[in-house]
Amino acid sequence: MAEVPEVETTVRDLREAVVGRTVTATEVLLPAAVRFPTVDEFTTSLTDRVVLEANRRAKYILLPLSGDLLLVVHFALWGTLALVPTDQPRLPETLVVWHLDQEQDLRLFDKLGYARAAAGAAEVLFERLDLHSLGPEALDPGFDVDVLARQLVRRKGVLKSVLLNQRVLAGLGNRDTDESLWLAGIDPRRSAASLTLEELTHLHASIEKVLSEGIALRGTQRDLFGRKGQAVHRRYIFEKRREPCPRCGTPIAYIRIGGRNTFYCPNCQK
Ligand SMILES: [Zn+2]
Repeated sequence: MAEVPEVETTVRDLREAVVGRTVTATEVLLPAAVRFPTVDEFTTSLTDRVVLEANRRAKYILLPLSGDLLLVVHFALWGTLALVPTDQPRLPETLVVWHLDQEQDLRLFDKLGYARAAAGAAEVLFERLDLHSLGPEALDPGFDVDVLARQLVRRKGVLKSVLLNQRVLAGLGNRDTDESLWLAGIDPRRSAASLTLEELTHLHASIEKVLSEGIALRGTQRDLFGRKGQAVHRRYIFEKRREPCPRCGTPIAYIRIGGRNTFYCPNCQK
């Protein structure tokens, strides 16, 4: 599942292997994968652009290109990017192919077909994708307990839903929220505004641990070079319904919160 550790792993790989490279041509295999502009404008505008940087904001991959163009990729649930030789046969889940110099392709894959790309001037993209309204980044060095407290203090909504709201905090997906709340020993059904300073401190440390471990293990998906990440083996409770809680042995419970699958320990998450 593509959450921030998976996206961040890809961005770091892009920095290593794609920044400085030239897009020589673009092929769109699933027209719906291009959010905007039109498919023709998308492919034409990207030709002969050099990839200048690779950055991330929430789950968006931002690739500034030469000539003041920005290419944005979003993995949705299961998207991945791969750097492969141009002559490598295409998988059926290929949505977009960017031909690069040196006989290599950057390919966007998604079995469900939900991953998306868009291109345009940076200010247009930020406006249309509403990137300005994203909250502070959980992986930013400036993200501390005070920032978390400030973001949650007036939120009366259910804690899990508030943490998933990228306008409150950019960086937690469904899996990483459940894992962080379990690690912090906090019930996901609580009101966000009800957390004590001690609980906020635990939650902040737990979020940092879950995200940094996910990145250190290179996520749960294939990276840019096709290598499988190892983080899938490190889940505490996510998708472990009825299995014993690693802390107290109580069977892990499953509920839906705000329409999202939620796993928690009914005994040790207070
Ligand atoms: Zn427990």
